[in-house]
Amino acid sequence: MSTPLSTTDPEIRTAIENEQRRQSEGMELIASENYQSPAVLAVQSSVFANKYSEGFPGKRYYGGQEYTDTIETLAIQRAKQLFKSDHANVQALSGAAANLAFYSAVMQPGDTILGMDLTHGGHLTHGAPVTFFSKVFNFQRYKTLPNGKIDFAQVRDLARELNPKVILAGFSAYPRELEYDKFAEIAKESWAILYADISHIGGFVATGILKNPFDYGFHAVMTTTHKSLRWPRGALLLSKGTVSNPLKKPEDTIEHIPTRIDRAVFPWMQGGPHMNTIVAIAVALKEAQTSSFFDYAQQTLVNAKLLASELLAYGYTLVTGGTDNHMVIVDFSWTQRNGAIAERTLDKIGISTSKSTIPDDPNPPFRPSGLRIGMPAMTTRGVKESWTKKIASFIHQALLATNDEEKLAQLREEVKEFCGSYPVPSIR
Ligand SMILES: *Cc1c(COP(=O)(O)O)cnc(C)c1O
Repeated sequence: MSTPLSTTDPEIRTAIENEQRRQSEGMELIASENYQSPAVLAVQSSVFANKYSEGFPGKRYYGGQEYTDTIETLAIQRAKQLFKSDHANVQALSGAAANLAFYSAVMQPGDTILGMDLTHGGHLTHGAPVTFFSKVFNFQRYKTLPNGKIDFAQVRDLARELNPKVILAGFSAYPRELEYDKFAEIAKESWAILYADISHIGGFVATGILKNPFDYGFHAVMTTTHKSLRWPRGALLLSKGTVSNPLKKPEDTIEHIPTRIDRAVFPWMQGGPHMNTIVAIAVALKEAQTSSFFDYAQQTLVNAKLLASELLAYGYTLVTGGTDNHMVIVDFSWTQRNGAIAERTLDKIGISTSKSTIPDDPNPPFRPSGLRIGMPAMTTRGVKESWTKKIASFIHQALLATNDEEKLAQLREEVKEFCGSYPVPSIR
């Protein structure tokens, strides 16, 4: 990299170069990671980084907004078109901030929200006791069946019993397509607001390869922008017009979700938006309409399914027995191994994965029984079927050689060589 940092700040320059090398020599199989395109990376350091623009297009608190309004309006239009929503807020700083804004937009403190149990695949921001918001709202949880799929009988019973204000469909560790129609049917009985957190699968929903919750009557959808979408780090809060409930008094009715979302993001939760991120998201939104983005999204799912079938052939057990999306969750609960040991072993050969709980995990959370493996990042780097098989073989060989440092060192060299053929997109 030819930045002036070489003379002004060599320590940071070295750290950047080291990270660049780590990313190119290693194999990224963390399901939530990806690589932004060179154009998108470059735009993030544009002059929009200098600009304060509290408010929304046409309604700002500072002057000089001709061009910020242009880019934010474009980002909003493109997001609405891509996800088929009536409204889009592109300002949330990340997924967690977006979820908190949505909860605050539609609920009062103490209101009940029904979401997926964390150990069964939900996200921390879906009410983990370690989060502040778990004290503000009443988070209740549904779980999965022994076959790993969502227990809709339980969702229905809980919804009848608790009359939740919001029913949340979404996950960080669940390898199956969500049955939005079933959530919608259940929500109808209690007039619950239907909210989908598609953070992990945004790229597949955007391309129409996985189902779009809006096609099933969902009122609002949140996606992070940096996972399967491979955009800058941020989030989109997408919504449909109104939810009116004739059974409730007008003042208790959510009259206008889009307005409430905008107000919750700013000024309730945030100050000035990160305009350099928003301009890069606008560029990425256009890239997402290209056939090469579609091909990436489709190839990712092909690769994930193939990885699943290869691992099954090697004798591994998978949560739900396979995958419909970009991730595979290996279940080590009946073996001598666990997810933490597997993660550490794979780290030794330069493969990044993440340990994960499995439904009703018999092991404690710091050494859970599962290992989550995702294909988006390596697919962005160009991996197709034959090399997916090779990846499965690397994983299997490493896990067989858990205590054989010599074999692991040899595999590390092979992984490094493999990765040399799949460069990381960068703006060198
Ligand atoms: C990643 C994720 C989030 C949080 O996003 P951050 O950008 O890390 O704050 C929220 N919900 C789900 C389902 C996620 O997977």
